[in-house]
Amino acid sequence: MRSRTPDRLCAEAVDLARTAAQDVALPGVVGEHLGAVADGDRVVTHLFAADEPGYRGWRWAVTVARASRAKIVTLDEAVLLPGPDAVLAPEWVPWSERLRPGDMGPGDLLPTESDDLRLEPGFSGEDSPPPNSAVAEGMAADVADTEEADVLPGSPAIQPTPARGGIADVAEELGMRRARVLSRYGLHAAADRWEEAYGAKTPMAQAAPATCMTCGFLAPLTGSLRQAFGVCANEFSPADGRVVSLAYGCGAHSEAAVMPKPPRPAPPVVDETVVEPLTLRPERDGGSVEEAGPAEELGHS
Ligand code: SF4
Repeated sequence: MRSRTPDRLCAEAVDLARTAAQDVALPGVVGEHLGAVADGDRVVTHLFAADEPGYRGWRWAVTVARASRAKIVTLDEAVLLPGPDAVLAPEWVPWSERLRPGDMGPGDLLPTESDDLRLEPGFSGEDSPPPNSAVAEGMAADVADTEEADVLPGSPAIQPTPARGGIADVAEELGMRRARVLSRYGLHAAADRWEEAYGAKTPMAQAAPATCMTCGFLAPLTGSLRQAFGVCANEFSPADGRVVSLAYGCGAHSEAAVMPKPPRPAPPVVDETVVEPLTLRPERDGGSVEEAGPAEELGHS
């Protein structure tokens, strides 16, 4: 149990502690005595400032002790320890937790753990029995039993399963032949990220005239994600080339600002109820203007 009051003889052994600190430190870097702390019964640690560049806030800690009923104080250890205001390096973080989106450069490889939660086994075809294997022969035997009872399993009459038509071949044609596919967890994690970056709660979407769902620039995704996301294909949009939530939107929405068409002039109106005198010939020598006759006024000559 720790005693609160440092042992008197140990606390007085400042010179012993300083000498020990100077022995392990460079000359002149052991500073003023900062105090003594009781580590236990007759065990005291003396603290000295470390006047070393690069070790601001660090302290030389020299522990001394004495045996019960002994008058001689002995040295335990001298170490350099960080104080409460010491400048310390940031806590070490494994590289796998240090990586951030955008850290990958050309030629970088980012391996995934075999138990990566974002992935789950896909259909790779490895679980289908290879031709001529025992399982394949067993399947062939079943066929033989049902179709030709007199043909023995493994006989030359039984042909292996044709390469085309198997589940693996169909899966390969459909582009599904992958060892691992996105798990439900990976799917949700991706959806959360996309929703946060290009979702309905972003300031851009809040101020948008309409959502991506009704935008002509939205390229749909395939699979279950298409219910909530698509890819923006508008080069003027801030989300061009990004996966956007259908609830996202921006001012570049295809229907937001349709360019107005130039106004068409109204068709001419012929008013046949009023007769207007029109001048057909210019004035001659200051004479009076010759007015058109009734037939000329209406354009009939
Ligand atoms: S242009 Fe704007 S509204 Fe249209 S899909 Fe892209 S982000 Fe969505």
